[in-house]
Amino acid sequence: MTQQSDTTPDSVGEVYDVFADAGATTALGGNIHVGYWDGADDVPITEATDRLTDLVAGHLALRPGQRLLDVGCGNGDPALRIAGAHDVRVTGINVSHQQIAHATAQADSSTARGRAAFQFADAMDLPFDDGSFDGAWAIESLLHMPDQAAALREIHRVVRPGGRLVVTDLCQRQPFTGDDQDVLDGMLRVYEIAGINTPDEHRARLAEAGWELLELTDIGERVRASYGHAATAFRGIAASLDTAAAGQISAAADLMEAFGRHPHTGYVVITARRP
Ligand code: SAH
Repeated sequence: MTQQSDTTPDSVGEVYDVFADAGATTALGGNIHVGYWDGADDVPITEATDRLTDLVAGHLALRPGQRLLDVGCGNGDPALRIAGAHDVRVTGINVSHQQIAHATAQADSSTARGRAAFQFADAMDLPFDDGSFDGAWAIESLLHMPDQAAALREIHRVVRPGGRLVVTDLCQRQPFTGDDQDVLDGMLRVYEIAGINTPDEHRARLAEAGWELLELTDIGERVRASYGHAATAFRGIAASLDTAAAGQISAAADLMEAFGRHPHTGYVVITARRP
Protein backbone atom coordinates (compact mmCIF):
# COMPACT_ATOMS: atom_id res chain seq x y z
CA MET A 1 0.00 0.00 0.00
CA THR A 2 1.28 3.48 -0.78
CA GLN A 3 0.91 5.31 2.48
CA GLN A 4 0.24 8.99 2.85
CA SER A 5 1.28 9.65 6.40
CA ASP A 6 -0.51 12.98 6.92
CA THR A 7 -4.04 11.59 6.44
CA THR A 8 -5.87 11.70 9.75
CA PRO A 9 -9.54 11.29 10.69
CA ASP A 10 -9.68 15.09 11.12
CA SER A 11 -8.24 15.83 7.68
CA VAL A 12 -10.60 13.28 6.11
CA GLY A 13 -13.58 14.82 7.90
CA GLU A 14 -12.55 18.29 6.74
CA VAL A 15 -12.19 17.33 3.09
CA TYR A 16 -15.63 15.66 3.14
CA ASP A 17 -17.06 18.81 4.72
CA VAL A 18 -15.61 20.90 1.84
CA PHE A 19 -17.06 18.49 -0.72
CA ALA A 20 -20.41 18.46 1.14
CA ASP A 21 -20.56 22.28 1.20
CA ALA A 22 -20.08 22.29 -2.57
CA GLY A 23 -22.84 19.72 -3.09
CA ALA A 24 -20.31 17.18 -4.37
CA THR A 25 -21.20 14.41 -1.93
CA THR A 26 -24.72 14.22 -3.32
CA ALA A 27 -23.58 14.26 -6.98
CA LEU A 28 -24.09 10.51 -7.25
CA GLY A 29 -27.57 10.61 -5.78
CA GLY A 30 -26.57 10.52 -2.11
CA ASN A 31 -24.36 7.46 -2.15
CA ILE A 32 -20.64 8.20 -2.11
CA HIS A 33 -19.54 5.08 -3.88
CA VAL A 34 -19.26 3.53 -7.32
CA GLY A 35 -22.15 2.21 -9.37
CA TYR A 36 -22.51 -1.37 -10.56
CA TRP A 37 -23.51 -2.28 -14.12
CA ASP A 38 -24.39 -5.78 -15.17
CA GLY A 39 -22.97 -5.77 -18.69
CA ALA A 40 -25.02 -4.11 -21.41
CA ASP A 41 -27.55 -2.23 -19.28
CA ASP A 42 -27.26 1.54 -18.99
CA VAL A 43 -29.14 2.49 -15.83
CA PRO A 44 -28.19 5.94 -14.52
CA ILE A 45 -25.34 6.23 -12.01
CA THR A 46 -27.80 7.14 -9.23
CA GLU A 47 -29.50 3.74 -9.65
CA ALA A 48 -26.24 1.87 -10.21
CA THR A 49 -24.87 3.11 -6.86
CA ASP A 50 -27.96 1.70 -5.08
CA ARG A 51 -27.21 -1.60 -6.80
CA LEU A 52 -23.79 -1.67 -5.18
CA THR A 53 -25.48 -1.17 -1.80
CA ASP A 54 -27.78 -4.10 -2.58
CA LEU A 55 -24.78 -6.22 -3.52
CA VAL A 56 -23.23 -5.48 -0.11
CA ALA A 57 -26.51 -6.34 1.65
CA GLY A 58 -26.63 -9.62 -0.25
CA HIS A 59 -23.27 -10.67 1.21
CA LEU A 60 -24.25 -9.86 4.81
CA ALA A 61 -26.64 -12.82 5.26
CA LEU A 62 -29.12 -10.51 7.04
CA ARG A 63 -31.94 -11.65 9.30
CA PRO A 64 -34.77 -9.43 10.58
CA GLY A 65 -34.01 -7.76 13.89
CA GLN A 66 -30.22 -7.87 13.56
CA ARG A 67 -27.98 -4.97 14.58
CA LEU A 68 -25.49 -3.78 11.97
CA LEU A 69 -22.67 -1.25 11.96
CA ASP A 70 -22.00 0.91 8.88
CA VAL A 71 -18.36 1.96 9.10
CA GLY A 72 -17.84 5.26 7.27
CA CYS A 73 -21.54 5.77 6.54
CA GLY A 74 -21.34 8.86 4.28
CA ASN A 75 -24.71 10.60 3.89
CA GLY A 76 -26.51 7.61 5.41
CA ASP A 77 -28.07 6.43 2.14
CA PRO A 78 -26.69 2.86 2.26
CA ALA A 79 -27.70 2.41 5.92
CA LEU A 80 -31.23 3.72 5.31
CA ARG A 81 -31.65 1.56 2.21
CA ILE A 82 -30.49 -1.60 3.98
CA ALA A 83 -32.44 -0.90 7.19
CA GLY A 84 -35.55 -0.20 5.09
CA ALA A 85 -35.31 -3.30 2.91
CA HIS A 86 -34.22 -5.88 5.48
CA ASP A 87 -35.88 -4.91 8.75
CA VAL A 88 -32.55 -4.60 10.55
CA ARG A 89 -31.25 -1.86 12.84
CA VAL A 90 -28.22 0.08 11.66
CA THR A 91 -25.78 2.37 13.44
CA GLY A 92 -23.74 4.49 11.02
CA ILE A 93 -20.52 6.22 12.00
CA ASN A 94 -18.15 8.57 10.20
CA VAL A 95 -15.77 11.49 10.76
CA SER A 96 -17.62 14.27 8.91
CA HIS A 97 -19.96 16.36 11.09
CA GLN A 98 -21.84 17.54 8.00
CA GLN A 99 -22.48 14.00 6.80
CA ILE A 100 -23.71 12.93 10.24
CA ALA A 101 -26.12 15.90 10.33
CA HIS A 102 -27.33 15.12 6.80
CA ALA A 103 -27.76 11.39 7.58
CA THR A 104 -29.66 12.13 10.79
CA ALA A 105 -32.03 14.51 8.96
CA GLN A 106 -32.60 11.94 6.21
CA ALA A 107 -33.35 9.23 8.79
CA ASP A 108 -36.18 11.32 10.26
CA SER A 109 -38.12 11.27 7.02
CA SER A 110 -37.18 7.76 5.96
CA THR A 111 -39.22 4.54 6.05
CA ALA A 112 -36.38 3.16 8.20
CA ARG A 113 -37.10 5.84 10.81
CA GLY A 114 -36.28 4.56 14.29
CA ARG A 115 -34.11 1.77 12.90
CA ALA A 116 -31.12 3.81 11.78
CA ALA A 117 -28.99 6.13 13.91
CA PHE A 118 -25.86 8.06 13.05
CA GLN A 119 -23.02 9.31 15.21
CA PHE A 120 -19.60 10.87 14.82
CA ALA A 121 -16.93 8.26 15.62
CA ASP A 122 -13.53 7.08 14.41
CA ALA A 123 -13.46 3.50 13.13
CA MET A 124 -9.99 3.03 14.58
CA ASP A 125 -11.37 3.66 18.08
CA LEU A 126 -15.01 2.55 18.19
CA PRO A 127 -17.21 3.69 21.10
CA PHE A 128 -19.10 0.37 21.33
CA ASP A 129 -18.96 -2.64 23.62
CA ASP A 130 -17.50 -5.97 22.52
CA GLY A 131 -19.87 -8.06 20.42
CA SER A 132 -22.55 -5.37 20.17
CA PHE A 133 -23.32 -5.98 16.46
CA ASP A 134 -24.40 -8.98 14.41
CA GLY A 135 -22.42 -7.72 11.44
CA ALA A 136 -20.78 -4.70 9.81
CA TRP A 137 -19.96 -3.23 6.45
CA ALA A 138 -17.49 -0.64 5.18
CA ILE A 139 -18.15 0.78 1.71
CA GLU A 140 -15.16 2.77 0.38
CA SER A 141 -14.12 3.95 3.83
CA LEU A 142 -11.15 1.76 4.81
CA LEU A 143 -8.97 3.46 2.21
CA HIS A 144 -9.16 6.71 4.22
CA MET A 145 -7.82 5.14 7.39
CA PRO A 146 -4.15 5.57 8.25
CA ASP A 147 -4.26 2.40 10.36
CA GLN A 148 -6.55 -0.02 8.54
CA ALA A 149 -5.37 -2.90 10.73
CA ALA A 150 -6.58 -1.01 13.83
CA ALA A 151 -9.97 -0.39 12.21
CA LEU A 152 -10.33 -4.05 11.22
CA ARG A 153 -9.42 -5.11 14.78
CA GLU A 154 -11.94 -2.67 16.24
CA ILE A 155 -14.72 -3.89 13.93
CA HIS A 156 -13.77 -7.47 14.83
CA ARG A 157 -14.09 -6.58 18.51
CA VAL A 158 -17.57 -5.05 18.23
CA VAL A 159 -19.02 -7.77 15.94
CA ARG A 160 -20.10 -10.95 17.73
CA PRO A 161 -18.43 -14.29 16.88
CA GLY A 162 -19.98 -15.69 13.72
CA GLY A 163 -20.88 -12.21 12.48
CA ARG A 164 -19.94 -10.96 9.03
CA LEU A 165 -18.01 -8.02 7.66
CA VAL A 166 -18.42 -6.87 4.06
CA VAL A 167 -15.83 -4.45 2.70
CA THR A 168 -15.84 -2.80 -0.70
CA ASP A 169 -12.91 -0.70 -1.74
CA LEU A 170 -10.79 0.52 -4.60
CA CYS A 171 -7.77 -1.70 -5.19
CA GLN A 172 -4.53 -1.66 -7.15
CA ARG A 173 -4.54 -4.87 -9.18
CA GLN A 174 -0.81 -4.31 -9.49
CA PRO A 175 1.10 -1.47 -7.88
CA PHE A 176 1.10 1.81 -9.85
CA THR A 177 4.67 2.60 -10.92
CA GLY A 178 6.61 5.12 -13.03
CA ASP A 179 4.59 8.03 -14.46
CA ASP A 180 1.36 6.38 -13.33
CA GLN A 181 2.48 6.86 -9.75
CA ASP A 182 1.53 10.57 -10.18
CA VAL A 183 -2.10 9.64 -10.81
CA LEU A 184 -2.19 7.47 -7.72
CA ASP A 185 -0.42 10.07 -5.56
CA GLY A 186 -2.85 12.74 -6.80
CA MET A 187 -5.82 10.56 -5.85
CA LEU A 188 -4.39 10.02 -2.37
CA ARG A 189 -3.80 13.76 -1.89
CA VAL A 190 -7.05 15.18 -3.27
CA TYR A 191 -9.35 12.62 -1.66
CA GLU A 192 -7.42 12.30 1.63
CA ILE A 193 -6.85 8.62 0.93
CA ALA A 194 -4.34 6.95 3.25
CA GLY A 195 -3.65 4.12 0.83
CA ILE A 196 -5.16 1.85 -1.83
CA ASN A 197 -4.43 -1.83 -1.20
CA THR A 198 -3.65 -4.65 -3.57
CA PRO A 199 -5.98 -7.66 -3.09
CA ASP A 200 -3.15 -9.46 -1.25
CA GLU A 201 -2.75 -6.54 1.15
CA HIS A 202 -6.50 -6.69 1.86
CA ARG A 203 -6.21 -10.42 2.57
CA ALA A 204 -3.22 -9.95 4.85
CA ARG A 205 -4.80 -7.14 6.90
CA LEU A 206 -8.04 -9.05 7.42
CA ALA A 207 -6.15 -12.14 8.54
CA GLU A 208 -3.98 -10.08 10.92
CA ALA A 209 -7.12 -8.66 12.53
CA GLY A 210 -8.59 -12.14 13.05
CA TRP A 211 -11.14 -12.25 10.19
CA GLU A 212 -11.77 -15.43 8.23
CA LEU A 213 -11.99 -14.59 4.51
CA LEU A 214 -15.08 -16.08 2.84
CA GLU A 215 -14.82 -14.37 -0.54
CA LEU A 216 -12.82 -11.68 -2.34
CA THR A 217 -13.90 -10.68 -5.85
CA ASP A 218 -12.55 -7.95 -8.12
CA ILE A 219 -15.62 -6.36 -9.79
CA GLY A 220 -13.52 -3.55 -11.28
CA GLU A 221 -14.93 -3.86 -14.80
CA ARG A 222 -18.54 -3.73 -13.53
CA VAL A 223 -17.93 -0.41 -11.76
CA ARG A 224 -15.44 1.26 -14.13
CA ALA A 225 -17.98 3.59 -15.78
CA SER A 226 -18.48 5.28 -12.39
CA TYR A 227 -15.28 7.28 -12.54
CA GLY A 228 -16.29 9.06 -15.76
CA HIS A 229 -19.78 9.79 -14.38
CA ALA A 230 -18.31 11.20 -11.16
CA ALA A 231 -15.79 13.34 -13.06
CA THR A 232 -18.59 14.83 -15.20
CA ALA A 233 -20.70 15.57 -12.12
CA PHE A 234 -17.74 17.18 -10.33
CA ARG A 235 -16.95 19.37 -13.36
CA GLY A 236 -20.54 20.56 -13.43
CA ILE A 237 -20.34 21.50 -9.77
CA ALA A 238 -16.94 23.21 -10.18
CA ALA A 239 -18.30 25.32 -13.05
CA SER A 240 -21.13 26.60 -10.87
CA LEU A 241 -18.87 27.63 -7.98
CA ASP A 242 -17.12 30.88 -7.37
CA THR A 243 -14.95 29.74 -4.46
CA ALA A 244 -11.57 28.12 -3.84
CA ALA A 245 -13.37 24.79 -3.72
CA ALA A 246 -13.98 25.04 -7.51
CA GLY A 247 -10.30 24.44 -8.30
CA GLN A 248 -10.11 21.59 -5.83
CA ILE A 249 -13.17 19.89 -7.26
CA SER A 250 -12.12 20.26 -10.88
CA ALA A 251 -8.65 18.84 -10.08
CA ALA A 252 -10.41 16.00 -8.29
CA ALA A 253 -12.44 15.34 -11.46
CA ASP A 254 -9.32 15.07 -13.67
CA LEU A 255 -7.62 12.65 -11.31
CA MET A 256 -10.74 10.56 -10.92
CA GLU A 257 -10.99 10.17 -14.69
CA ALA A 258 -7.33 9.20 -15.13
CA PHE A 259 -7.47 6.74 -12.24
CA GLY A 260 -10.69 5.21 -13.56
CA ARG A 261 -9.16 4.62 -17.01
CA HIS A 262 -6.08 2.84 -15.66
CA PRO A 263 -5.96 -0.94 -16.15
CA HIS A 264 -4.41 -1.43 -12.70
CA THR A 265 -7.49 0.10 -11.09
CA GLY A 266 -9.75 -2.59 -9.65
CA TYR A 267 -12.49 -2.79 -7.04
CA VAL A 268 -12.82 -5.49 -4.41
CA VAL A 269 -15.89 -6.88 -2.68
CA ILE A 270 -14.79 -8.81 0.38
CA THR A 271 -16.88 -10.99 2.68
CA ALA A 272 -15.32 -12.07 5.95
CA ARG A 273 -16.54 -13.76 9.11
CA ARG A 274 -15.52 -13.44 12.74
CA PRO A 275 -14.70 -17.05 13.69
N1 SAH B 1 -19.96 4.38 2.85
C1 SAH B 1 -20.53 5.62 2.37
C2 SAH B 1 -19.50 6.74 2.29
C3 SAH B 1 -18.21 6.46 1.57
S1 SAH B 1 -17.18 7.90 1.59
C4 SAH B 1 -21.22 5.39 1.05
O1 SAH B 1 -20.99 4.34 0.46
O2 SAH B 1 -21.99 6.23 0.62
C5 SAH B 1 -16.05 7.52 2.91
C6 SAH B 1 -16.64 7.68 4.28
O3 SAH B 1 -15.68 7.19 5.24
C7 SAH B 1 -16.93 9.11 4.72
O4 SAH B 1 -18.22 9.13 5.30
C8 SAH B 1 -15.88 9.42 5.77
O5 SAH B 1 -16.30 10.34 6.76
C9 SAH B 1 -15.68 8.03 6.35
N2 SAH B 1 -14.43 7.84 7.10
C10 SAH B 1 -13.18 8.10 6.68
N3 SAH B 1 -12.28 7.84 7.66
C11 SAH B 1 -12.99 7.38 8.72
C12 SAH B 1 -12.65 6.95 10.04
N4 SAH B 1 -11.38 6.94 10.48
N5 SAH B 1 -13.64 6.55 10.86
C13 SAH B 1 -14.94 6.57 10.45
N6 SAH B 1 -15.32 6.97 9.21
C14 SAH B 1 -14.36 7.38 8.37
